Amino acid sequence: MRNLYQGATGDWEVVIGLEIHAQVISESKLFSGASTKFGSEPNTQVSFVCSAQPGMLPVINEECVRQAVRTGLAMGCQINLRSVFDRKNYFYADLPQGYQISQFKDPIVGEGVVTVDLEDGSTKDIGVERLHLEQDAGKSMHDQHPSMTYVDLNRSGVALMEIVSKPDMRSAEEAGAYFKKIRSLVRYAGTCDGNMDQGSMRADVNVSVRRPGEPLGTRTETKNVNSIRYVMMVIESEIRRQVDVLEDGGTIDQETRLFEVATGTTRTMRSKEEAHDYRYFPDPDLLPLEFSQAFVDELAKEMPELSDAKKARFIKDLHISAYNAGVLVAEKESADYFEELLSATVEKSGKQVSELGTMVSNWVTGDLFGALKKLGKGITGSPVSIAHAAELLSLQVDGTISGRIAKEVFENMLESGKSPEVIVDEKGLKQVSDTGAIETMIDEILVANADKVEEYRGGKEKLYGFFVGQVMKQTGGKANPQVVNQLLRPKLDG
Ligand code: ADP
Ligand code: MG
Repeated sequence: MRNLYQGATGDWEVVIGLEIHAQVISESKLFSGASTKFGSEPNTQVSFVCSAQPGMLPVINEECVRQAVRTGLAMGCQINLRSVFDRKNYFYADLPQGYQISQFKDPIVGEGVVTVDLEDGSTKDIGVERLHLEQDAGKSMHDQHPSMTYVDLNRSGVALMEIVSKPDMRSAEEAGAYFKKIRSLVRYAGTCDGNMDQGSMRADVNVSVRRPGEPLGTRTETKNVNSIRYVMMVIESEIRRQVDVLEDGGTIDQETRLFEVATGTTRTMRSKEEAHDYRYFPDPDLLPLEFSQAFVDELAKEMPELSDAKKARFIKDLHISAYNAGVLVAEKESADYFEELLSATVEKSGKQVSELGTMVSNWVTGDLFGALKKLGKGITGSPVSIAHAAELLSLQVDGTISGRIAKEVFENMLESGKSPEVIVDEKGLKQVSDTGAIETMIDEILVANADKVEEYRGGKEKLYGFFVGQVMKQTGGKANPQVVNQLLRPKLDG
């Protein structure tokens, strides 16, 4: 069986469930018209509702409802035509209402299944339990004053989607792949920007271990983990800690833990005994949320093409490899870049889409991604424009430059920002396809290396490469390899 953790006393199976909080893309908050813009001055985006002034009433923002439904559709989940908002009661300085409006028993989105791609090329289905809508709290700022805590309510009331998985993951890798997939889906659907460094997405990580075949073990929940890498670190460290405790004859407390980046480990935040009783009850200020199947169908019709469908189309229509297709669709931006580049290259070179798919996909996933990685940039920060990239690939397609020279030109494009046509002109990098010139050169080389020609003809066929190398050397790598082969082979063999 895969994915077992080897402890000192035998194998352990790891069980993981994630609760992902994703901030909804919408102009205004879940129950008020205050703006959700990121990075504004503290307390400049606060309505009477989000600061909990007496007598203020929440009004549901229809756009947030649409976004939650779109996200549910993207994950292939059941959409509930009737859901209920509940009050989750607790005290915190940055929670002026004294409760958070959330959904408890009746969430807007129910069960579904998400398929994730794993490193070894296999896939795994992970169950989604539910998605519910809830408000975010404000932010306490402890670093503004020596003895006081400041409160910023800009985030108070911003809509969050909480996406709860089933305990279906069995390794840190699977959990990382699932988080990545959810992030990719919400970005494709346009329902959450997925910017983790701005806090748009974070996860509560539930981990337990058990002997294979036994019932589920006691889990711990590590709160507010804000990167995929950290989620995987939390899991690795919890597995080791829990197995150590159990193998020493101890028991795992069901508790809430915190991740410490500095040590890469987790520590106790509160135990079950201290756990909140949130006293959930339906919010009397809000009617149950009800909409028609027609509302859902309308949203389903308008959904953009998502990654799984895009991947299948790339493989079927563009004849590119499943591997390349998977890499390209993982992020919407790279899929978009690829498609735009492909059509620009088709236009520029006059070739068919099906003839160029493999070449363009290889260039994007290989040359371009390699260069971006070195530069520490993402596809949206690419220093090479679609127009320049299409020009480069077209020069290669029409035989003006060889594949090897194309790599050299690309390096130069990254440094200088110049167009490939200009670089090829300035450096005289045009491929030499002039049969006459190459033939003369080959004749000279064969005369100058008569001894090697004898050896070749005597059976030392490996020397073929030497002659090709000589032609390339004399042309600075610019001889068209096809022309060289066509001319050289008969001369040597004849
Ligand atoms: P709560 O609402 O109390 O946090 P849930 O039952 O909703 O509890 O579970 C929260 C998350 O914990 C879900 O993602 C679920 O899959 C996961 N989970 C539940 N039991 C376990 C377990 N024994 N080990 C690991 N994860 C678990
Ligand atoms: Mg929980």
